[in-house]
Amino acid sequence: MLNKYLASIFMGLESLVFDSSCIICGDRESEFCVRCRQDWQSSPQRISGESFPVYSSIAYSETAKAIVLSAKENGVKFSRSLVVSELCAAIKALVRESKLTTEIDLVPIPSSRQARARRGFDFISQITNILAKNLNEDGKPSRFFARPILSINKRVVDQSGLSEPQRNDNLFGAFKVAKPLNSAAPIIIVDDVITTGSTLREAVRALKERNLTVLGAATACATQRRLLIR
Ligand SMILES: [Zn+2]
Repeated sequence: MLNKYLASIFMGLESLVFDSSCIICGDRESEFCVRCRQDWQSSPQRISGESFPVYSSIAYSETAKAIVLSAKENGVKFSRSLVVSELCAAIKALVRESKLTTEIDLVPIPSSRQARARRGFDFISQITNILAKNLNEDGKPSRFFARPILSINKRVVDQSGLSEPQRNDNLFGAFKVAKPLNSAAPIIIVDDVITTGSTLREAVRALKERNLTVLGAATACATQRRLLIR
């Protein structure tokens, strides 16, 4: 009886101490193993090739993809906090560049209705709320507000497998400003990953169409080539 009791305590302790496999790759080492950590090196910088400032923090890799997907599709809180802190870093770098100390509106890229239904939440909107809260807690001169004002205006086909011009065509007119914005504050667009940039460009187009001021965009990850070519 006592042995059984001790054994159950030991098993409980063992699971606390030893059962910490990497949340990303599953290696039984730590919650976020050294190898995965190496693929998630924070380096906020302005990326190349856009007519507006885009800041990003992490070079997109298979590991980064796994982290973003687990946050987005499975709601894994640990992964979400990784994405949030890199987005915070990218936003801060963009604000530093702009030298603004006013109010700033954070506008999330909207998810499709299908993605929202599948996940049960709107990932980018959710993290934009967390970003505004975290950035304001830093007590910096700027005040951040989450403003989910963009909505999907037309059905777009799956972007994977499309060339860049095809993506641009596919996305043109995809977004619209759905809610009246009672704010004239400059806007930072928020997304998880930038690849071709066509999504961000369409968001800028939709916001500027309504004469809103776009400061730039921030993403957690950017494909390697966008980070390397300056
Ligand atoms: Zn790992």
